[in-house]
Amino acid sequence: MKTLYCEDCHEAFTGCDETQTYNCIHCGTELVDAFQCKECDGDFGEDELHEGYCDECLEKHASYETALDYSEAGERTFVELDQFLGYIFSTSEIEEILHKTLADARKLFDHQVRRESKNYCLTDKDDFALYVDRNKKGLE
Ligand SMILES: [Zn+2]
Ligand SMILES: [Zn+2]
Repeated sequence: MKTLYCEDCHEAFTGCDETQTYNCIHCGTELVDAFQCKECDGDFGEDELHEGYCDECLEKHASYETALDYSEAGERTFVELDQFLGYIFSTSEIEEILHKTLADARKLFDHQVRRESKNYCLTDKDDFALYVDRNKKGLE
């Protein structure tokens, strides 16, 4: 027995015979093998998972705190800067100032900061899923 999945209706069908092909009872699309999310164990189509995680589980991880840590662990980005400011401040000082500004902004615009944190984390879902996975292994 195995679980099959309709990629059009996003519905799983359990108890299917290994040797047979099936079509969705709702839309008629041929069912494909279901894959389980590493975190919630839900059934999904292969293309709907990112390194084994479903969208919903990744979204749960995509918080402000996670964005800070995920970003720190990731690649650097480069921005243009006023020459005098670049002369006065070092990279780590600029980062410190901006982290403080962001923390302050969070007090006033919590919703927006949260939304942007989530969008940032989910920009590259496969990469973020790998990060989530690495962190989990670190906790075990
Ligand atoms: Zn269907
Ligand atoms: Zn999941």
